[in-house]
Amino acid sequence: MQTKFIFVTGGVMSGLGKGVTTSSIAKLLQLANQKISCIKIDPYLNYDAGTMNPVAHGEVFVTEDGGECDMDIGNYERFLNQNIPKIHNITTAQVYSKVIDAERKGEYLGACVQIIPHITDEIKNRIRKIATDEALDFLIVECGGTVGDIESLPFLEALRQMRVEDGPKNVMFVHVTLAPSLDVVGEQKTKPTQHSVQELRRIGIQADFLAVRCTQPLEEKTKNKIALFTNVASEDVLSCHDAKSIFEVPQILYDQGILDSIFTKFGKVGMVNASANWDKWNKIADSMISPRDKKVKIAMVGKYVTLADSYVSVNHALKHAGARLGKSVEIDWIDSESITDYSTLDNYNGILIPGGFGIRGSEGIIKTANYAREKNIPYLGICFGFQLAAIAFGQNVLNLDDANSTEIKQDAKNPVIDLLPEQKNISDMGGSLRLGGHKINIKPGTIAHKIYKSNSINKRHRHRYEINKEYIAQYEKNGMIFSAESDGGKRMEILEIPSHKFYLGVQFHPEFNSRPGFAEESFVSFLEASSR
Ligand code: GLN
Repeated sequence: MQTKFIFVTGGVMSGLGKGVTTSSIAKLLQLANQKISCIKIDPYLNYDAGTMNPVAHGEVFVTEDGGECDMDIGNYERFLNQNIPKIHNITTAQVYSKVIDAERKGEYLGACVQIIPHITDEIKNRIRKIATDEALDFLIVECGGTVGDIESLPFLEALRQMRVEDGPKNVMFVHVTLAPSLDVVGEQKTKPTQHSVQELRRIGIQADFLAVRCTQPLEEKTKNKIALFTNVASEDVLSCHDAKSIFEVPQILYDQGILDSIFTKFGKVGMVNASANWDKWNKIADSMISPRDKKVKIAMVGKYVTLADSYVSVNHALKHAGARLGKSVEIDWIDSESITDYSTLDNYNGILIPGGFGIRGSEGIIKTANYAREKNIPYLGICFGFQLAAIAFGQNVLNLDDANSTEIKQDAKNPVIDLLPEQKNISDMGGSLRLGGHKINIKPGTIAHKIYKSNSINKRHRHRYEINKEYIAQYEKNGMIFSAESDGGKRMEILEIPSHKFYLGVQFHPEFNSRPGFAEESFVSFLEASSR
């Protein structure tokens, strides 16, 4: 069986929604009963996204198998309701280091090792291996960056070669561009698209489809003009106009005949009747879009609040839970470094502390966690938010002198949060945290058990520090209960205060498991308590 490849490239500028286009095409093929998956190529030199600041590059998405990936992988997982393995996020560093290692081992003995063919071969091998190993009908590959970037050239060259080698019946290109309209004239401009397609042709790639971002639906005459200048059939120039929600995009593309066109071009005949799939998806998409009058206001207090994408999965998870409960969720981000008047938190129905690292801003989070406890405001603390809630309790209820995390204060007299023992001798920062899915056991009779209705769950992790077990007895005697553990009781995974309206901390990252139509349980319970 030959996998069909769809390569998605970007033109004009970044931020046009290549990820949503990729996910939406994949979704349509999945709805048509095809076995699909996605790959994200990131042409930067980091080995993975784990060492990048989320404010610069958006959230680090953690996969089930422990990859620290680009946030687009999260988009794919949410759209497709399907786990994506970490090898589906290919970076320049991974490709080059593999080739350089092979050269040192003598695997190319006698050859001059070059970008073409050695680097491009390695890229193609990675893509093809995923297609074969997973026996996919379609593999959609999104190439990060904008055509014309130096960084992405070897990747685009590899994709070009694949089209030649596998033929147009097996490989096609979708190019995402922009048709801006200037307010004064109101006319949709085609020149940026023309230039971007030319740039793509210059490196030997002819687009089969153009996904054109625009504010209003692309006019017929604009489509025709773009078609004339780009060698793309006018019916394959697709309008990707602004939608109320990303969940409308698959339908927008479907209505323009993209699925028929893909099947025809690939010579796949006899499209299956997939109305049952569509019914399920429409229900989910509608639930995410439908207007709701009851509003829940959540304060998200953290340090990476200047970029909306820094906590993108947490935002989505709150929305999934809102859709499930029929509530609209309003999220305000509050910078933990600049918060001084904690009474502003009284204006919110709930407080959420997401993950984070380092000293900066931690003081404000500890005070926030304490304020939520004292004022009986529903609280959900994730990872850092779990650890800092424990610190707040140690400082203010247990009155432990200098209770802290050794991440924040190395010589704290009471290190209630400390490095994981296996982290003590680690020197490399990349890929060395406790990562990915781990089994967690929940104690019956606890709030956690009520939330998850199970004795065990599997959740994704990304941390270096944990609860110091020496203090557990003191905590539990004073009303903070550790209701779940992992690794044979070695690590604490959930904390709760049973006497509080809702006070829950989780060492794991529940947001990475939340999907439209399948809201993650801790978010649902938190939002439920917040709307009470
Ligand atoms: N900085 C903390 C740790 O490394 C929490 C990490 C996180 O929130 N992802 O354990």
